Amino acid sequence: MKPSATEKYAFETGVYRPPSEGGSNSLLVRLTRNCPWNRCTFCGMYKTEKFQVRPVEEIKRDIDAMAVLSDDLAALSRGTGPVNEINRQGVIALIDKYPALNHHQGLAMLYQWLLSGGKTVFLQDANSLIMKTRQLVEVLHYLRRTFPSIVRVTSYARSKTLAQKPLDDLKAIRRAGLDRLHVGLESGDDKVLQQVRKGATAEIHISGGRKALEAGFQLSEYWMPGLGGKALWQAHAENTARVLSAIDPHYVRSRPFRAWPGTAMARETAARTFEMLTPTEQLRELRLTIQGLEITGRVCFDHVGNYWKDRSGRLLFSHSYQGYAFPEEKQTVLDRINDGLQVRGET
Ligand code: SF4
Repeated sequence: MKPSATEKYAFETGVYRPPSEGGSNSLLVRLTRNCPWNRCTFCGMYKTEKFQVRPVEEIKRDIDAMAVLSDDLAALSRGTGPVNEINRQGVIALIDKYPALNHHQGLAMLYQWLLSGGKTVFLQDANSLIMKTRQLVEVLHYLRRTFPSIVRVTSYARSKTLAQKPLDDLKAIRRAGLDRLHVGLESGDDKVLQQVRKGATAEIHISGGRKALEAGFQLSEYWMPGLGGKALWQAHAENTARVLSAIDPHYVRSRPFRAWPGTAMARETAARTFEMLTPTEQLRELRLTIQGLEITGRVCFDHVGNYWKDRSGRLLFSHSYQGYAFPEEKQTVLDRINDGLQVRGET
């Protein structure tokens, strides 16, 4: 019996990916499900879900299904637009043929990826590096062989996993075609890290980050302004700048703290055992962090949480995925922060 469209094109797509991967229309390939740590008190992702490493054969079947879907879209697009280009007519024709595809969770994502040239891939979910090195390498080779158009593959990774993994394993993964790692640093202050149950210390962050760089990865570190609240804002700012400077990653990305409903920190905020910073205090903390940041990478505010406005009512920072080049534009960022503080009556 012929497989149905649901079987033929079946592949899993997880919920989360970094905004910059959305910006580059990355193909989402799911290697693991959910988060192997899942204890950070500020995090609302994957909370009710169990962590699982997906079998390599299952991941390869997903990649095969993506390839078949891409080929069928190309075949149906042929003759309806520019030569060899996937287009909307192809998608419409495929859905006409298989109406069940209207409910396919990955069709729109794959279509956007193909439209943008099929160049970048993000491996889901929260820490693909927890897979056995041999298995991860096998998946990367298979993915790159199946889609030769790929120029960049990225993944989330935990500092602790990077710190524990042998350098030679990281180098093998890098050689197999994983290019960039997105790491949640959140803070460089041990007290804050312990308080939010990050499962990493400042030392682990530095060791994991440096090892990733030594293995040849591009490194994107995410920090969370405001995570220390009123009690620890100064130590949070100073130590985060210190740890990020010690790592010197390619990208530093700001993800200001928000008390997400349902999280432990939302309950602490409601109970006033954790006191959030006011917008002015947030900017003061940000100024202290940026002042201490001695890096040669880019600092990005590429998330709606960086909401502060300047005197003319425009966003204080560019939300570009490439952000500001440091150290050249460090003063520009500090000037922007001072502008934001003046709006709030501070100098
Ligand atoms: S490691 Fe990341 S995904 Fe996992 S609980 Fe912490 S913040 Fe959430």
